[in-house]
Amino acid sequence: MADQNRRPCRGTNKDGTACRAQALPGREWCPNHAPELAGWRADRNRRGGEGKSTAARVRKAMPADLRSVGDMLLEAMQAVKDGKMTPSVAHALAGLARAYVDVTEYATFEARIAAVEEATEVKAA
Ligand SMILES: [Zn+2]
Repeated sequence: MADQNRRPCRGTNKDGTACRAQALPGREWCPNHAPELAGWRADRNRRGGEGKSTAARVRKAMPADLRSVGDMLLEAMQAVKDGKMTPSVAHALAGLARAYVDVTEYATFEARIAAVEEATEVKAA
């Protein structure tokens, strides 16, 4: 049951080949080539780009408790930029954040040493 309103897209791909997608019903282009959908495509590509940004990747890789510290720092950076926070307050926040990261690293290190000690005691016993 062929839909007589559907035909091949008239668009050309970036590599110069003809688009092989079906045109939208009653139209001559697919969603990726329809001139009237250029704004929608630009929005979609921008949203896709945000997900791939370095900041987004770094954020995903961060432990959850450090993520809130990172969020606080980003907010502080914006607040300084907007003139809503003095650089000295932001500097103090950055120092506290650094101290928090140090404490977290120390705690992680201690936990690892305890695990290694426990494992070697079990083997020695
Ligand atoms: Zn197309």
